[in-house]
Amino acid sequence: MLAPKVEQLFGNREQAEYYTIVTLGSHSALQILKGAKDEGFRTLAVANRQTERLYRSYGFVDEVLAIERYEDFPRHMQSLEHRKAVIVPHGSFVAYLSLEDHKKMTIPYFGNKAVLDWEASRELQRQWLSAAGLNLPRQFKTGAEIDRPVIVKLYGANGGKGYMFVRDAHDFEERAGLLARRNYIIQEYIIGVPLYIHYFYSPLTGRLEIMSMDRRYETNVDSLGRIPAAAQEGLDLEPSYVVVGNQSLSLRESMLAEAYRMGEDVVRVSKDICGPKGLFGAFCIETIITPDTQFYVMEISARIVAGTNLFINGSPYSYLNYDEPMSTGRRIARELKNALLSNSLRLVLDDSGVL
Ligand code: AMP
Ligand code: AMP
Repeated sequence: MLAPKVEQLFGNREQAEYYTIVTLGSHSALQILKGAKDEGFRTLAVANRQTERLYRSYGFVDEVLAIERYEDFPRHMQSLEHRKAVIVPHGSFVAYLSLEDHKKMTIPYFGNKAVLDWEASRELQRQWLSAAGLNLPRQFKTGAEIDRPVIVKLYGANGGKGYMFVRDAHDFEERAGLLARRNYIIQEYIIGVPLYIHYFYSPLTGRLEIMSMDRRYETNVDSLGRIPAAAQEGLDLEPSYVVVGNQSLSLRESMLAEAYRMGEDVVRVSKDICGPKGLFGAFCIETIITPDTQFYVMEISARIVAGTNLFINGSPYSYLNYDEPMSTGRRIARELKNALLSNSLRLVLDDSGVL
C-alpha cells in the first residue's frame, strides 16, 4: 500500500543530490545535516529567529527556513511539499510537536510513525519492553505501596525535568499536595550508573549495530557527591535530573553481548506490535546498571538521541563497523542512500499523511 505513494513522489533510482534532508534546528540537527551532506544529499535546517544565524554559518547546511516558533513547523510544511524532501526526526520533534502533528506530516518521514503510539504511552512502552525480556524498575500504583526509594515522574516531563526523588511512603505522603490532580508514575529508584545505548537497525539488511553510548550529565544529581553527605544535612537539598550534556563511555566488554541482545529483542517485538516494519533506524535504550551488572531499562527513545552528538566524527563502536567516521546522523543518510540505490525507499520512510 505504501509503495505507490513513495514511488509516485520520488520516482525511481534518483541520485541522492536531488533529495533534501530536512530537520528542525536543535538537538542533533548539526550531526544529521553534516551526515546527510557527507552522503551527498542537499540539506535544509528549519530554524527560528534565534538559531537562524547559527545554522547559516555552517557550510554543509544548504538552506535555512526561518520560522517564528518550532511549534509552527506543520504550517510551513507546504513550502516543502513540492520537492523531494525527507524529514529526519529527533528529540525536539517530540518536544515541540504533538503526536497528531507527527501523523499529519505532509512530507515523507524517516522512521515508522506507528511506533510513536507505543513509545508515547508509558503503559504500552512497558508492555513492549517487558515482552522483549528487559529488566524494568518496579512500578507502584499508590503511595501506600511504596516500600523503597522511588522516583516520581510527571507525565509530559522531559529532559529529566519534573522528576522527584522520594525516600519512602511517608515522604510521598508529605508531598502529596504537589502531585494533586497531576498524572505521574511512581518507579523504583535504581542506584547505579546511567548508560544510554545508541543503536541503529537497518530494515534493508536486517542488521543491528551498536553505534555509540553515553552517560547523561544531570544537574544537580551528578553534583551532589561534591558536597559530603554530612555537610548536606539540613540543607534541604532535592536531587533534580535536568540534563545539561553528555559524557562518553565505553562499556565493559563482557556486558556488550547483553546490550546487543536487548536491542535485538526490542526490534523483534516491535515487529509484532507496531506493524511489520516495526522499529527501525536509530533508537536508544536508556539503562541504569546496578552493582551486580544488571541493566535496568528506564525508557526507549525511538529516534536519534542527543548523546550521539559526542560522536559526530564516529565512535569506537562505529569504527568497528566502518573504516570511516560514521555518526548516527550519517548512518541515517547512508540508509536513505542505500534505499534509493536499491529502489526500496518505502522500507525506510513513513508517508502516512503525505497523500
Ligand atoms: P531542545 O530542542 O534543546 O529543547 O531539546 C529537545 C529535547 O531533547 C529536550 O527536552 C531534551 O529532552 C532532549 N535533549 C536535548 N539535548 C539533550 C542532550 N544533550 N542530552 C539528552 N537529551 C537532550
Ligand atoms: P529519562 O527521562 O528516563 O531519560 O530519565 C532522566 C534521568 O532521571 C535519568 O538519566 C536518571 O538519572 C533519572 N532516572 C530516571 N528513572 C530512574 C530510575 N528508575 N531510577 C533512578 N534514576 C532514574
